[in-house]
Amino acid sequence: MNLKSSACLNALLVWCALALPLAAQPAPSAPVHWKPNKVLLVVGSQWADPNGDIIAGRLEHPHHAAGDKLTGPVSGDTFWRTAAFLKTCSIPFDILRLDQMELRLNYFLDHHLQPAYGAVIWDVDAAEIPARDFAVMRQVVADCGISLIVLTDRKQPPVIQELLGLQWDEGSATAPTSPAPYHFNGEHFITRGLKGEHPSLPAAGDYRGPAVTARDATVLATAGGQPALTVREATGRASAIWIGGNPAHMFEAQPFLLRALRRAVVHGIGYSVYRTFPNTAVFRMDDPTCTAMFGNWHFPALTEQEIVDWIVRPLQERNAVVQLNMVPSRFMDAARRVEPNWTQDYTDEIGERHDLVSNGRGWRRGIEAGVFEGHGWTHRNPEWEKYWAAGPAARRDNRWGGEFYDRFTHTEVPNAMQLFSLKRSRAALEEIWGQRPLYFVPGQHAASFSYANHTARLARKAGYAITYDYWLGPDFIIDVEPYLFTAKDAKTSDVPGLEGERPILILSHDIDVYRDHDFMRKRLAGFGPEYRFIGVNEPIAYMFADVRGGADGRIEFDYSPEFCRHFTTHGSSWELHFSDQFRGELNRRGPAGVAIDGKPAAAPAAGFFQERMEITLPAGTRAHTWEVRR
Ligand SMILES: [Zn+2]
Repeated sequence: MNLKSSACLNALLVWCALALPLAAQPAPSAPVHWKPNKVLLVVGSQWADPNGDIIAGRLEHPHHAAGDKLTGPVSGDTFWRTAAFLKTCSIPFDILRLDQMELRLNYFLDHHLQPAYGAVIWDVDAAEIPARDFAVMRQVVADCGISLIVLTDRKQPPVIQELLGLQWDEGSATAPTSPAPYHFNGEHFITRGLKGEHPSLPAAGDYRGPAVTARDATVLATAGGQPALTVREATGRASAIWIGGNPAHMFEAQPFLLRALRRAVVHGIGYSVYRTFPNTAVFRMDDPTCTAMFGNWHFPALTEQEIVDWIVRPLQERNAVVQLNMVPSRFMDAARRVEPNWTQDYTDEIGERHDLVSNGRGWRRGIEAGVFEGHGWTHRNPEWEKYWAAGPAARRDNRWGGEFYDRFTHTEVPNAMQLFSLKRSRAALEEIWGQRPLYFVPGQHAASFSYANHTARLARKAGYAITYDYWLGPDFIIDVEPYLFTAKDAKTSDVPGLEGERPILILSHDIDVYRDHDFMRKRLAGFGPEYRFIGVNEPIAYMFADVRGGADGRIEFDYSPEFCRHFTTHGSSWELHFSDQFRGELNRRGPAGVAIDGKPAAAPAAGFFQERMEITLPAGTRAHTWEVRR
């Protein structure tokens, strides 16, 4: 410990005095220290948004139409994917960016100079940032007991190499076989379930990893004969873990490393609380009531009885819900203005009847069986003058459907126009259906990405919780598209590396039901009885939950009534994952049980702590607690 940190010295000595006896020979009755259930993600210059809002690692997405002009800087791929993965698992984290902040011990401690994090994930491009005092990391790990998880093959500063027990040699690896498959050996906690050979996906491209020598570390995996994943037990309390790979796209090319990363977090902290969605599907219906839109998308609005027979009943038979992404308004060409949906009964220019009053009654009858979300205000290009001047035939061009990005001129829609549409849409839907939409999908997935006009940032201003691609947090806006759902329309596919974990997203439209009245039944039948259909408000509630774990085996949950609204009427359940080491330590203290919200929920039993346990909490927003009782 150097003199520079003398202000923290006393607090750290107190900490170490408490910690050391535990690491040595604990008395059976002594409390076990639980580290904070929180990660500090430390990055260098990879965060491209100068406002520190948006974390997105690429501009192209599978659902962006060819020709869309995609703007905006792109953050480092590993940084982006790490943030997106932690967020979709609901693992709490903060971000320390060393291009804007110095490396100070204080940033790892709370106001009372106690460790604020259980583990650090280190994705730092040290050569690209101002000189920083990396020796601080020795204090973070050795004195504070905070574990260190270093990502990528980047050559690390000497202090980090020493903590990892590794040495980066000059030049690159002699083995020319990149992208080399990862070879996992043994049965260490961090790599459990990954035994054997795992090839890279093609995304890796040509790549030669560095030559790294393990001096004082256990090698858990190799790639091309070189160490690729290592662990060193730095102290009795803190581990130093290295997960190597190409910084340009290690998690994309080696998605199996995602679970290794999460297990490293569990190993490093001792436990983690997170959420997965096995056998779960989100059944989304876009554009209900948008019946007079385009040349190839023109049909009489479904009546109340048709909605009940073709949509609501099949859902009820299956105990399923569909998530309706609604547009509250429509362009009325005869009146040359935007009017509310579900108040009209009219015949359009090509002679199709739209009884939207009956149609609205049908959706109303389905609301109890479903959820609905926002899909814009009009689903129409906001240049109305041009639209009406175009005449009836040209008005049926599909490109008029881009409300948040102009598909004709390939230009962004200005932020003031977008914000008006987003706010009006949200307010109108809330007024009509009595529920505030939390999820927003831009029509045709046409969105703007420059910082001035970023659709997700404007959606956050308008009060939404997530968009199709972005989590809209109070601190960051994160593109979670790779990990939130499986790819659209791929009803049995998986997110690579997270097989069986993420909700499957399937899409539909009311025009599908108009064309095939059995559409819903057939789509639902594609999923076995083990599947549960959820609305997107459920994953939103988990992603916005505030979960704190610490000191004495007490985990506190805080669910905001606004974004965690799903929990008002539904219980919640979390995975509590223990490391082998911490679980052993807990079980050695003798019988333990659990109290939930202060009431005994499991009587004390020997060997109580398993690797994976479930925390089940009753319905209700705001505070819940899960705590160990001896
Ligand atoms: Zn749409």
